[in-house]
Amino acid sequence: MSTAAIANEYGSDVFTLSVMQEYLAKDTVKKLLHTVNDHAPLDPSIANDVAHAMKQWAMARGATHYTHWFQPLTGGTAEKHDAFFEPTGVGETIARFSGKNLIMGEPDASSFPSGGLRCTFEARGYTAWDVTSPAFIKRHSNGATLCIPTVFCSYTGEVLDKKTPLLRSTQAMAKAVRKLMACFGEPADGRAVCTLGPEQEYFLIDRKYYLQRPDLIQCGRTLFGAPPARHQQLEDHYFGSIRPRIIAFMEEVEQELWRLGIPAKTRHNEVAPAQFELAPMFEELNLAIDHNMLTMEVLRNVAEKHGLVCLLHEKPFAGVNGSGKHNNWSVAYNGKNLLDPGSDPQSNAIFLTVLAAVIRAIDEHADILRSATAGAGNDHRLGANEAPPSIISVFLGDQLTEVIERIGLDDGTRPAGAPSPLRIGVDTLPPMTRDTTDRNRTSPFAFTGNKFEFRAPGSSHNCAGVCLTLNTIVAESMSALADEIAALPKEREAFNAGLQQIIRRTIDAHSRVIFNGDGYSEAWVQEAAARGLPNLRTTPEALAPMLDARNLELFANEHVLMPTEMRSRYDVFMEEYSRKVTIEGKVALEMARSMIEPAATAEYGAVCKAVASAKAAGITAGIASVSEVATTLGAGLDRLHADCATLETALTRSPADILSALTALRATVDKLEEDVDAARWPLPKYRDMLFIY
Ligand code: ADP
Ligand code: MG
Repeated sequence: MSTAAIANEYGSDVFTLSVMQEYLAKDTVKKLLHTVNDHAPLDPSIANDVAHAMKQWAMARGATHYTHWFQPLTGGTAEKHDAFFEPTGVGETIARFSGKNLIMGEPDASSFPSGGLRCTFEARGYTAWDVTSPAFIKRHSNGATLCIPTVFCSYTGEVLDKKTPLLRSTQAMAKAVRKLMACFGEPADGRAVCTLGPEQEYFLIDRKYYLQRPDLIQCGRTLFGAPPARHQQLEDHYFGSIRPRIIAFMEEVEQELWRLGIPAKTRHNEVAPAQFELAPMFEELNLAIDHNMLTMEVLRNVAEKHGLVCLLHEKPFAGVNGSGKHNNWSVAYNGKNLLDPGSDPQSNAIFLTVLAAVIRAIDEHADILRSATAGAGNDHRLGANEAPPSIISVFLGDQLTEVIERIGLDDGTRPAGAPSPLRIGVDTLPPMTRDTTDRNRTSPFAFTGNKFEFRAPGSSHNCAGVCLTLNTIVAESMSALADEIAALPKEREAFNAGLQQIIRRTIDAHSRVIFNGDGYSEAWVQEAAARGLPNLRTTPEALAPMLDARNLELFANEHVLMPTEMRSRYDVFMEEYSRKVTIEGKVALEMARSMIEPAATAEYGAVCKAVASAKAAGITAGIASVSEVATTLGAGLDRLHADCATLETALTRSPADILSALTALRATVDKLEEDVDAARWPLPKYRDMLFIY
């Protein structure tokens, strides 16, 4: 495709402002935009007109169906297509799409996870149009579907999805930001938005290998596989030149994304062999998340067309890096990024206040933030020396750390030789370049110049869980600081002095969460424990804080999730975890018995036969070492039987038992892989999957 054609196609399958202007009356567009931009309630009288316009536009672009597109608690997206066509008589039809069809849907909710919120006998669930995310068209090889982003809730109004609480959390943030900004004399009715740029990591392997691996097909990760001699130690993959087959894939992905108005920007090889990254330009939070969900789908679909499979699991291969999804998050007020220090004393004062609020939030609520990153896949990645540990800490970088250390130094206690003090609201900060802040890749939550980069979330996650948590805790924190600041005298000098004290006090009270050192080191684990920071290593430990009274109260106070909703989500996530681990156990057992054991037995038989016939022929040279191979194989087979029996028992117990039995079985199988003739080994090896594509 020519560059001009690509530019022309950008956003062509999105119901954009210019499409609205083309298909709708001026007044209707105005009312719709009022809802989209200012979150005003939707005027129901325009629904029919908007639906009609959407139908005309979508059909002109080849759509035959429409669907409400939503994000249930499964972690994926859901859709149920309806044709526009309705019969008007025998053999006659008319295309219909009413305001009612647009605004609300009634999918059978009984088969979606709800954590007991909705029993099957009251299966009704509702989807409702999310006006703030534009409708778009999904293309298939023979047609197209108009997709309307929606929220999903139960008959009684409880949330059953990831989008509803996210939208509520952006409202909580908006309220808190306005309250804080008012303290600084900024207009109190401004537009507060959170922004997100999610960097998506993924693996690509050849489809022929994937099809031979029941573990990849059913669990998304390899349960067995001996490390190849060469994996990532040469460090030659990261930012390496991209192979032709991969670049062809990436180009097609990008063209698809651009057509959907998704601003795919950066592409590169990642650290592990066969690992890659795609980063978009950041967007408003809700839209960025819808776009990331679509990006993951496009990655998977386009890979299939290229004879590849895209693996989004956090740890598809043991021993090489796993995949994360770095959530670059910030908040803006009236178009100004509040995490951008700016260049004048007023913006600096606001920046430092927001920074203090974030530090306070992360320290106070590290446990619930860690909860949001939990999951069976991410457990294999966090703390594995290539991803941040399960300890939540904040990285500020040397320059910003020095800045905050200088705040309030002129209170008379300034030690000799200390850097000059910084007076809030009077002095300006040194310009902070990205360069000086982004050198540490080992921190889970790093300040990177004008935003925070939360690196703990997993590659397969819907960012909504993480972002709604971040919004909730920061909203609470901002609001608490705003209460203190609002009580300060208004007179400028007194206000600045008071603000300085509040910031100083806040940072001092929460400085234990700031850590600029090596997050991968064992020393940090020790130090974090001494500082009293939580280290929640596994999903069950990490999810537990969701039930703490303190967190239930926090989410209820911010109107993001009611206690019943929090509890139901806890149940859903715990169940998902234990189901995933159980499936892994069962798949491993089946593979060990039906694939590994026959191969090892055949190898053992062949070696024993060779030893016997050599002995019969009176050959002695080399017999000793062949006998040794037979002994090793025999011992391996014995161990395999014992491990399988243990795993079988573990499957009737807890996920922790299954995981440890799985680890033992894996060690045995991976050793057998080294001992058995490669020609006989029934599974594609790491060296094939990671290097041949
Ligand atoms: P790196 O890999 O070095 O961390 P990338 O350039 O790959 O950086 O990704 C940085 C991401 O941060 C991009 O998606 C970018 O759009 C996003 N980003 C930049 N500014 C903001 C902001 N104010 N709010 C949210 N995300 C932002
Ligand atoms: Mg990147």
